[in-house]
Amino acid sequence: MTDLTRLTIAEAREQLGAKEITAVELTDAYLSAIEAANPAINAYVTVTPEKARDMAKASDGRIAAGQAGALEGIPLGIKDLFATEGVHTQACSHILDGFEPKYESTVTQNLWNDGAVMLGKLNMDEFAMGSSNESSYYGPVKNPWRATGSNLDLVPGGSSGGSAAAVAAFLCAGATATDTGGSIRQPAAFTGTVGIKPTYGRCSRWGIVAFASSLDQAGPIARDVRDAAILLKSMASVDAKDTTSVDLPVPDYEAALGQSLKGMRIGIPREYRVDGMPEEIEALWQQGIAWLKDAGAEIVDISLPHTKYALPAYYIVAPAEASSNLARYDGVRYGLRIDGKDIVDMYEKTRAAGFGTEVKRRIMIGTYVLSAGYYDAYYLQAQKVRTLIKRDFELAFNAGVDAILTPATPSSAFGIADEDLASDPVKMYLQDIFTVTVNMAGLPGLSVPAGLDHKGLPLSLQLIGKPFEEEILFKTAHVIEKAAGRFSPNKWW
Ligand code: GLN
Repeated sequence: MTDLTRLTIAEAREQLGAKEITAVELTDAYLSAIEAANPAINAYVTVTPEKARDMAKASDGRIAAGQAGALEGIPLGIKDLFATEGVHTQACSHILDGFEPKYESTVTQNLWNDGAVMLGKLNMDEFAMGSSNESSYYGPVKNPWRATGSNLDLVPGGSSGGSAAAVAAFLCAGATATDTGGSIRQPAAFTGTVGIKPTYGRCSRWGIVAFASSLDQAGPIARDVRDAAILLKSMASVDAKDTTSVDLPVPDYEAALGQSLKGMRIGIPREYRVDGMPEEIEALWQQGIAWLKDAGAEIVDISLPHTKYALPAYYIVAPAEASSNLARYDGVRYGLRIDGKDIVDMYEKTRAAGFGTEVKRRIMIGTYVLSAGYYDAYYLQAQKVRTLIKRDFELAFNAGVDAILTPATPSSAFGIADEDLASDPVKMYLQDIFTVTVNMAGLPGLSVPAGLDHKGLPLSLQLIGKPFEEEILFKTAHVIEKAAGRFSPNKWW
């Protein structure tokens, strides 16, 4: 029998619909794959086999009754940041030990309403802070990719490292993820998968553990562009429980695939050509430009002059919001409690023991930039810069640009415990250089694999679009995918 875990969502949907396979068989294939691979990859922090089989059985019933939903019987992995009723939801932090919410996030509820099956919860950087998945309380995730001829373990990127690794290693058909500064697009790029951060407000944030509320947005990581389109359609919705979600119809993203790029204008921002960027990334970018030109798009040089301020401004805004959002973890309401001689002592002991180093660093930076005397100098200044970054994009789009093409990351996947990056948090923050602008401006951004580097590791391009024009990103990414081909790791696990 063929390996069912190799089917894309679109292929599985077809075979399930034609009753060539059952949802239970498909789910069992993934559960076996997880059992075999997870000790090595560490993508899942919790597997929910019973729940998965129950959901799959129900899916088979609905398929038999002719009542299949859009994702009927499709097994998915869920980032540990999404609240799942009665199931481990700890943002991969020690401070949320034992937390099992009494409610379901809107995004995951939307997926279950469409018939999807939950396989379990996926590893991530603690509270989604990081670019390598190494800040997880549950240990690092290993990238299913290795450089040609090397046994060195690589990071899958972060913070949605478990999501990206699980999709790339065939441990789920697709995964949910979140992106505050790049956490969908960068891990997708490091694992040869497709990730989209939709427009701020496209998906409800209700039931997603908050990191930086004005930047956080959910989105899918998938094997290919079509699967990402299918997943986003189900995840997106307006929601009375999140007033920042937007009441606009959710288009059929899949219908955009295959549409012509004739007459489209693709902007190439000169500021994304950063110092020290490897030659290969520049070559990949040029290759992407050539593919889009061949498909009939017009290429225009554009300028986004405030790009260089995006990263420093992000690392003020994001920690500021995080320091406020994480104030709720005090040992009283959720998870871990370390008793103390009085309540203040209990708070301090709990937070000291519960948060990891990176989270503590962010809370301290955030508290500092919000404090009296520094607020105007840092936080307010960063908010002004944010407005300018947004305006740069608006000017480019108003001048007739339909989408913007950039590299997704400044390098391919790096090693676990890489000395250079581990010793200097700012170097890790530089990973987000191409992705944070999109969150600062609230725009949609998609990363699509475009080739392999000299080490045999995947590299991606990023497409940035106008608010709520995800369809343009899907159709453009589809052209890149068709030209570049798809990429899978060689199994070593
Ligand atoms: N790497 C970025 C950070 O550490 C982005 C994380 C994210 O998008 N959640 O803040």
